Amino acid sequence: MQITEIFKSIQGESTHAGMLCVFVRLTGCNLRCSWCDSEYTFTGGHRMALEEVFEAVEQLSPSRGLVEITGGEPLLQEREVVPLMQRLLDAGYTVLLETSGERPLERVPRGVIKVVDVKCPNSGEADTFHTENLEMLTLDDEVKFVLSDRTDYEFARDFVIRHDLGQKVNTVLFSPAFAKDASGSRDTSHCLLDPRELAEWMLADNVRARLSLQMHKFIWDPAMKGV
Ligand code: SF4
Repeated sequence: MQITEIFKSIQGESTHAGMLCVFVRLTGCNLRCSWCDSEYTFTGGHRMALEEVFEAVEQLSPSRGLVEITGGEPLLQEREVVPLMQRLLDAGYTVLLETSGERPLERVPRGVIKVVDVKCPNSGEADTFHTENLEMLTLDDEVKFVLSDRTDYEFARDFVIRHDLGQKVNTVLFSPAFAKDASGSRDTSHCLLDPRELAEWMLADNVRARLSLQMHKFIWDPAMKGV
């Protein structure tokens, strides 16, 4: 499979936020979100066999903790990434899969925790979510919405209500988008949507979702890769 990087860091934006985590970042994405902070994954990378990836993960996490399969869009390499996820599960790892939900989720092994990033209007990639994937979600999974204004918020709020997501998944995450050229400052001034404003909207609407800030952007320089 084509890999951009494998590294250990702090999981930044899910119910596992704050946990040590090995990230396997696959190369390539078929979307072009306006606020994407992973454009360096679109091309390049290097080929690695499944066992090479497994060994790299094992070196970073010999005690077999948390591993996140991310990208890019990892499911573009479904043929190789599905056996990798199964191998990691069989070895005792807790496996997270970060995906846009544009690719079918049917072949994702049972036991993998899916974190599905449904695209909102200002991403420029709204309506790419594969609606049939709603049937593939379980009470272990998480659905994330990255928001940059009120239009995105209303889209997410209405999506949660329409599809009764509060009953279908473990957690719904509402996360303010971060400016993709942000660097230096580690505060909310680079959030495209003020978290306080978002919190007030959520309180007013009693939305069944969790406000989520990208923890790694506040720990390290937002422009840093491999964290
Ligand atoms: S799906 Fe993810 S990697 Fe692809 S463009 Fe959007 S944010 Fe970037």
